[in-house]
Amino acid sequence: MASNYKVKIAARLRPRLEWEQDDGSVQINHPSEGTSASTSYLAVTNPRDTSQVFKFPFSSCYDQSSTQEQIFRNDVEPMLDNVYSGVTVTIFAYGVTSSGKTHTMQGTKTDPGVIPRVVEAMFDHPARKKFQTRLAVSYMEIYKDEVYDLLVNRETAPKLPVRENDVGKVFVANLTREPLESVADFEAMYSRSNKQRSVGATNLNRASSRSHAILTIEATVVDPAANKILSGKINLVDLAGSENNKLTGNDQSRMAESAAINKSLSVLGQVVHALNQGAPRIPYRNSKLTRILQDALGGSSIGLLICNIAPGIKFRQDTLNTLNFAVRTK
Ligand code: ADP
Ligand code: MG
Repeated sequence: MASNYKVKIAARLRPRLEWEQDDGSVQINHPSEGTSASTSYLAVTNPRDTSQVFKFPFSSCYDQSSTQEQIFRNDVEPMLDNVYSGVTVTIFAYGVTSSGKTHTMQGTKTDPGVIPRVVEAMFDHPARKKFQTRLAVSYMEIYKDEVYDLLVNRETAPKLPVRENDVGKVFVANLTREPLESVADFEAMYSRSNKQRSVGATNLNRASSRSHAILTIEATVVDPAANKILSGKINLVDLAGSENNKLTGNDQSRMAESAAINKSLSVLGQVVHALNQGAPRIPYRNSKLTRILQDALGGSSIGLLICNIAPGIKFRQDTLNTLNFAVRTK
């Protein structure tokens, strides 16, 4: 079945952190006014031959000084009407550990990212004044190709099975779905659940960098006049770090972790590429991440993939890997 599904690919370069060395070899260039160039691109200069510059165009480019507000206004907010029209929207943050995925998706109390902004906008949406609406949330983590519910206590949480119903719709069985009455409701749930991600690991950032977190906000809209119920949702996905996992130690458990991450990210790239190319067969089944998101990838769903990039010398190879991933998804 052919699909007109397209994933918009964006890039965000984060600012240099205080202790980092940055030779300026990764830059975002916006077209200057009065020229015929129309797209922004990310430029990577070969440090050994500065006349050699590789250019990677993106639909949207966010430089070091870009704000959370800009990303939300340009690329996220325009998709929210769709959620209230029954469409499934998915936003992914892709990139190496410490490239700014969590900053982009979650942000901080004083500089909130995509997730808290989406929740607020969903509550303030004009559809809520016109129709009877309900919002609900679910939150899961995929770690070593197993699914865990982040809304229940992790100590007692079983691995959740992925199942398929009679009409071929894939779902995570027994995943909690909590109704949301207010932004405060969400905030309480979110901070409680995020703490669950650290259990079993010594270092919180390490644990969260090795798993994919999928937060879903579901909107049900009842239109009594038209006598219909619409159900849309937005998946907000903070992906596991895309670093070359072959290089990280030879500990058995870490090897299993690395293999699962490499596999799922490469299958995600293949699925997005197949969809963007209108390919007849989409390899959803090759990883749990894409199986779970199958109904969100393709058909009438829409998506945004934000490629997060860390500046600086230390990340040069990771940056090229991320850019190659982005190029291959087109
Ligand atoms: P990741 O989730 O990809 O591992 P983080 O979001 O944790 O990366 O970012 C790594 C560090 O960089 C954090 O200290 C974060 O606060 C900081 N950071 C990331 N992006 C930005 C940004 N756009 N502006 C300021 N600081 C940022
Ligand atoms: Mg993170």
